[in-house]
Amino acid sequence: MTTDPQIPADFATLLADDADTGGAAVPPIVQTSLFTFDSVDAMEAAFRAPDRTPIYTRGVNPTVRAFERKLAALERAEDARGFASGMGAISATLLGLLRTGDRLVCVRHVYPDAYRLMTGLVDRMGIETTFVDGTDLSAVRGALPGARLLYLESPTSLTFDVLDLPALAGIAREAGAISVIDNSWASPAFQRPIEAGIDLVVHSASKYLSGHSDTVAGVVCGRADLITEINRVAYASLGAKLSPFDAWLLVRGMRTLPMRMRRHHASGLAIAGRLAAHPAVAEVRHPGLGGGANGTGLSGWSGLFSFRLHGGAAAARQLCDRLGLIRLGVSWGGHESLAFPTQLGLIQPGLTNSFHAFGVPDDMVRLSIGLEDVEDLWRDLEAALEPLEASQEVQPEPID
Ligand SMILES: *Cc1c(COP(=O)(O)O)cnc(C)c1O
Repeated sequence: MTTDPQIPADFATLLADDADTGGAAVPPIVQTSLFTFDSVDAMEAAFRAPDRTPIYTRGVNPTVRAFERKLAALERAEDARGFASGMGAISATLLGLLRTGDRLVCVRHVYPDAYRLMTGLVDRMGIETTFVDGTDLSAVRGALPGARLLYLESPTSLTFDVLDLPALAGIAREAGAISVIDNSWASPAFQRPIEAGIDLVVHSASKYLSGHSDTVAGVVCGRADLITEINRVAYASLGAKLSPFDAWLLVRGMRTLPMRMRRHHASGLAIAGRLAAHPAVAEVRHPGLGGGANGTGLSGWSGLFSFRLHGGAAAARQLCDRLGLIRLGVSWGGHESLAFPTQLGLIQPGLTNSFHAFGVPDDMVRLSIGLEDVEDLWRDLEAALEPLEASQEVQPEPID
């Protein structure tokens, strides 16, 4: 792949176009909890197709459907279902598809709260998770027999390892396991896992899909039969439904997804390259540096990556404190640039979390490069790095 990001040409029109708006230029916010009927016959017809008909907003709502249809089109999926958060989508997917006694295989360096959910499922529900290195195809193949589901994230959280999706989808299919991937990092603009043979795609829509740091939302998309199975649990039992207003914000935010992703790609790559050449920086973990994404299906890189400092945890802390334009915060994918020092992820009194389990180092800073001027961002980073240059050069331990 060259450094030019590739986004399917039909995205622009899909995102601009809206069906069934009654002539309104944008889908209206159908802010209602329930829908009424003129006759018992009409109500009966709705009850016979509860997955498709508006009866109650916890089930189906037209504004939410507008978002779900759009996301399904972008991900080349048969159907989609929106949730009140990314974790709402992930928990409904796992609880909708897994039963007591089932086993799940998950890649290392998965999103920390997904890790917490999975490790909690053993005690609560007798569902066991085996964690494997997703870049080691033979390890995945060895762990899969007997498992019901393979859970992937690519690139992985914090370490940004890129996985071979067509190969992993094939291995899951051979083993009779459902494959699920968290595609929040790339968004459908840069990675469409269903085309690579993956069964289900989940997103934290709070990140690039929203793009404006003004909503928390999630979605799962994929094969219609699997979405129906998840929906049965989500609608009737879990209930973490996306709200009409949040769906409206997502439809609005997604109109600019291709433009935003091109800019995140270019600015992220520029900043990552300059950091890699800086003497205070020990390592930059960005999928576009050092070989990149050939053959993996990634057609661009978003603005989220991490780097490590020779000066260790103290230097990471000092750097973050000296940043001005780049603010400190969790989450990512918005218009604003953010830094997160990983040493804070290691604070979990009395708990082992994914940072401990997979050896996320404390000398790391994760950056989400937003839409600001790239030279302003670099000036901010360069000034914050300056006092670190004199610090002792220690080569950090490689990440396992
Ligand atoms: C933020 C995030 C989630 C969780 O999404 P929420 O919308 O915060 O619930 C899941 N996966 C990844 C990779 C994330 O970064």
